[in-house]
Amino acid sequence: MADPRLILLGLDGATFTVIDFLVARGRLPQLAGLMREGVRAPLASTVPPHSAAAWPSLVTGRNPGHHGLYEFYRRRAGSYRLEPINGGCVPGPKLWQLAGAAGKRVCVFNVPISYPPEDVKGVMVSGLDTPGRESEFTHPAGLKRELLARFPGYAIEIDEVVRALEHRERSAADPRAARRAMLLQQLEQELAVADFLLEREPWDLAFLVVTAPDRAQHLFWDDFERLQRGETVAADSPLLAAYERADAALGRWRARYPDRAWLVVSDHGFGPLTKEFYLEQFLAEQGWLRLRTRAERAGRLVGAALRRPWRALGPLGALLRQSAGRLTRGEAALPAWVLEDPERAVDWSRTRAYAVGDTGAIFLNVAGREPQGIIPPGREYERVREELAAALMALRDPGDGRTVVERVYRREELYSGAQLQALPDLHVCLREYAYRVVLRHHGEKGCYFGRPEARKALYDTGSHRREGIFLAAGPGFARGRQLPAANLLDVLPTVLHALGLPLEASLEGRVLAEAFAPEFMAAHPVSPGGRAPATAPAARGYSEEEERKLAERLKQLGYLD
Ligand SMILES: [Zn+2]
Repeated sequence: MADPRLILLGLDGATFTVIDFLVARGRLPQLAGLMREGVRAPLASTVPPHSAAAWPSLVTGRNPGHHGLYEFYRRRAGSYRLEPINGGCVPGPKLWQLAGAAGKRVCVFNVPISYPPEDVKGVMVSGLDTPGRESEFTHPAGLKRELLARFPGYAIEIDEVVRALEHRERSAADPRAARRAMLLQQLEQELAVADFLLEREPWDLAFLVVTAPDRAQHLFWDDFERLQRGETVAADSPLLAAYERADAALGRWRARYPDRAWLVVSDHGFGPLTKEFYLEQFLAEQGWLRLRTRAERAGRLVGAALRRPWRALGPLGALLRQSAGRLTRGEAALPAWVLEDPERAVDWSRTRAYAVGDTGAIFLNVAGREPQGIIPPGREYERVREELAAALMALRDPGDGRTVVERVYRREELYSGAQLQALPDLHVCLREYAYRVVLRHHGEKGCYFGRPEARKALYDTGSHRREGIFLAAGPGFARGRQLPAANLLDVLPTVLHALGLPLEASLEGRVLAEAFAPEFMAAHPVSPGGRAPATAPAARGYSEEEERKLAERLKQLGYLD
């Protein structure tokens, strides 16, 4: 057999809930074919099932305790300030480094949390954490010019597109239509650039991510619900388009590269979003978090730049502020105190816990760790964690009288590794993931739940789920098989094995041996492999100041000497 070559296609947020529904109606012939000719499995994502945790885990084959990422930003060590994360925060070895070290040429496109691009053997175009078009987001650097010449409107993620359309949306009679146009534009661009890169030069491993399914499902999950009820939806529904056009691209690529093995995966699944949980308000009213009153803060507000948190957060702010309306998603995911000087907005001397992000991450205010921590580590820390977990577990939504919190994880129950200490002390899983945390919205006193549509013109109708997709087909893989379960951490070992490469000793997942044909496994037993050198993250593409800051924080975190 010639040297195996493989395409790993990431469909951000893709779920079998939608795929199976559409396949049953003959609408995704290529994915249907892949399932017939190959293997499928539900893919368990990270907790939280969030792209910033999941993609770095897939890329390194290790749990978030290894990279310390759980949101598009993280708490700066020794501070209450939040800072945006990027691919430079992820320690190697990564999938493209392992493949490159074995002499394989790669083609990497649009992987979330992959900026700055790395010196791979082949080409690499960074994803949504790229600061903007002016940044060096390609390897080799000259590829950028070529790409922009060919796609003059190239917008990284939705950064530029959002900027251009936001205002159109605000003035648009139909903001959903404006958003629909934006998502379709993004989808077409992603598929066209992927196509261009695949053709540009030979590769052994192509790793492409289409983010459109995630973006479309956030706002247009209700289109899927209409389909489920037998109703029709707009022919240009971004949700339908995201699946159908990715399916068509898959068909083109499979015809063009008939000898390649295929893996199609998502970083998490999707489902309906029914309610919001005002976690920060809960913490404040229940005496965990002491926000200073307006009077206490009077005259102490910092400049407008900080009151616009997405500015302080850099380009990722654009992603966070996808939702238009009175309160954007970005604002909803940011604690109130980030908008001001955290020292002034919060009375930390009376704060025991604070929340970050929209997935249920909670930190305790620990003495010696936080600048003004008050909870002594050790027994008291454990006691407070238990008390808060119990308070959350007891919460009931007055809407139906049922409990809302399914489980509160202590971080060591979920993660292990060098960055365990950087992760939230508690992680709250809300009922069926159909509830989402909103930080900066305070309802009536004592009312911690609300509906998203109550306060915005454009609002999310879908939210992430833990169960993503895994599909594999082509040379080496079994035919027509369903596996009961797979884990996101199994993807990297499985890719390496399909490429005929040994594993790497630090990988936490396993080769999905049942996904391969028995004769392939007999001829190619799993080869354990040694330990690849851990790689320090690169910091290219930042201004000098940003680079200095990045080096400093990486040093603090122990990535650099
Ligand atoms: Zn998402």
